[in-house]
Amino acid sequence: MTLLLLGPPERARAWRPIFDAVGEELVVGEDAVEDASAITHLACWTPPADLGCYPNLKVVISTGAGVDQMPPLPPGVMLARTLAPGIDAMVRDWVLMATLMLHRDMPRYLEQAGRGEWRTHPPRPASECRVGIMGLGRIGRAAAAPLSSLGFDVAGWSRSGHPVDKIEVYGHADLVAFLARTDLLICVLPLTSETRGLIGADVFALLPEGAALVHAGRGAQLDMQALRSALEAGRLRAAMLDVTEPEPLPQSHWAWTDPRVIITPHTAAETDAVEGARHALAVIRATREGTALPGFVDNEQGY
Ligand code: NAP
Repeated sequence: MTLLLLGPPERARAWRPIFDAVGEELVVGEDAVEDASAITHLACWTPPADLGCYPNLKVVISTGAGVDQMPPLPPGVMLARTLAPGIDAMVRDWVLMATLMLHRDMPRYLEQAGRGEWRTHPPRPASECRVGIMGLGRIGRAAAAPLSSLGFDVAGWSRSGHPVDKIEVYGHADLVAFLARTDLLICVLPLTSETRGLIGADVFALLPEGAALVHAGRGAQLDMQALRSALEAGRLRAAMLDVTEPEPLPQSHWAWTDPRVIITPHTAAETDAVEGARHALAVIRATREGTALPGFVDNEQGY
């Protein structure tokens, strides 16, 4: 089996010794492909337009945690996304930071600091803040545990409603009840046809007055105009966003200068090249052995 890697040169430099050490074939860049029929795996962010030239391609691996950027693949070609403990931990940390910042009124204090204004607002204990996590996959679960340990009243919402240790889980049909009990909403959902535009006016109307939003899923899940209206109306008091639509967010966008909104430029996590290479090797091994692909993406579900 041979893996074709497309991506930045530093990724190739990290992957080469890891593949060489276990004797797996790695080809870097389409220009280096001598025998297209040898290529069985492709690792990339987005694939080249014509995958038909690789007649024995079995698996495409997204080099990121999401797959929403992937076009439909030819029939018979499976899709996997990179699983890396480092990604989960980094997004978890960003979510913890954002949750604490919003819970402890940082947007307000940053605005005051800009004016040199020394004024306090009564702090509330974490136990009085009901956190609701949309998406209880690898990242949602990784964030739920420490948030609970910090004393937040944590619940989550997922498609299946499968139980998760120590938190209350709402299934897909219970979105209304989930939102009604959520003072601080965290989104770590994958972008699919079901979640595109999900966080909009309807969701904001169902949250308690003065709720806050932490968004680290994908930009296209959030309706930015609805966010602005919810902030203006006081339905939301603040938001912290790592992802926006579009990216980069234009310099003139209202959200940059709104003191209630804090934006980071899609930087919660980056795939570590070594972890990515190890995951790719695990995918090759699973293909060879005919076992479940780590990070397998179900085309129907879209994640
Ligand atoms: P994951 O393990 O696949 O988990 C996805 C979770 O979302 C699951 O709990 C799933 O429910 C739930 N879900 C999916 N569609 C749903 C729907 N329509 N309604 C309700 N729940 C739904 O994904 P992950 O590894 O945690 O990553 C999640 C996303 O985080 C990625 O897709 C990516 O968009 C984003 N991300 C962002 C960054 C960043 O830098 N900001 C970095 C990495 C990832 P079930 O449990 O029922 O399947």
